Amino acid sequence: MKSELSSPWFHDENAAFAYVESKLWPTGPVCPHCGVIGKASRRGGKSSRPGLWKCYACRKEFTVRIGSIFESSHVPMHVWLQITYVMCSSKKGFPTRQIQRTLNCSMKTAWFLGHRVRECMKEARDLFTPQIGGAGKTLEADDTFIGGSGENRAFGPIPPKQTVMALVQRGGAVRSFHVPNVTATTLAPILGYHAHKDSRFNSDEAAVYRHLGWNFRGGHGAVNHSAKEYVRGDDYTNTVEGYFSILKRGIYGVYFHVSEAHLHRYLSEFDFRYSHRIRLGVDDMQRTDLAIKGAKGKRLTYRTTTGCWAVQVEPPHLGA
Ligand SMILES: [Zn+2]
Repeated sequence: MKSELSSPWFHDENAAFAYVESKLWPTGPVCPHCGVIGKASRRGGKSSRPGLWKCYACRKEFTVRIGSIFESSHVPMHVWLQITYVMCSSKKGFPTRQIQRTLNCSMKTAWFLGHRVRECMKEARDLFTPQIGGAGKTLEADDTFIGGSGENRAFGPIPPKQTVMALVQRGGAVRSFHVPNVTATTLAPILGYHAHKDSRFNSDEAAVYRHLGWNFRGGHGAVNHSAKEYVRGDDYTNTVEGYFSILKRGIYGVYFHVSEAHLHRYLSEFDFRYSHRIRLGVDDMQRTDLAIKGAKGKRLTYRTTTGCWAVQVEPPHLGA
């Protein structure tokens, strides 16, 4: 038996750097100072640190950490790989306390690590992001509330409920959104960007989805939940409800409480694992590789004015 965790990159710092480099630099080392690709040599010897390269073109030194989520982190690269692996392979999430115990680090370090891995899992959502669905495919949409329970709360105000809308391609990916409300004004641009118009659209009978459903060339199938109707022919919303149940078991059972400001990162985490799940042929190590690739071009910086972490996404380097 060969355990996944016995791979050298989970234990040896040089092997860990080589592994991350193979994912982020598939065509050779990319100098972050001048952009030249494949014209650098690895620094050897006892005096240099693991993962250090020197560019022939500009004579400067660099590592694969620069310009990625791993930049300015003192956490060794093999520990990054360990934590990325456990977060990618734990279906319901991996809480900060457990990161702290597993890595034997401070709560603060554990919290930062968890959120940085969540940033790696976040997919780009811009004009270049391909839509989900398409001709012959079915998209299910639904919304739910997260949090806001006053049960077991000894003091302090009850946190407000947060609304999450999710769009799932049956047998495919999910995209969920923390939304201020469920109105056509809020949902129309989300569906416009993310849902392929040739799909068939399934939802419950809520008026907001009826107003949006006619846009789909595959038609709109609505099941009437208030009349206890859950399936009509091929129309149902069981897939998106199944996704919400994984999300809620994670948020209530593993994370307990998720603040409004960070909810979007937890949604990225659950979306990422669901969209790259075993049933779609993605195993735990392949999912970890995808998260490592997602570290590229993102830097987490602390925004003192708002007191929260923000991500600086850099445009991809030419040729990189
Ligand atoms: Zn250079």
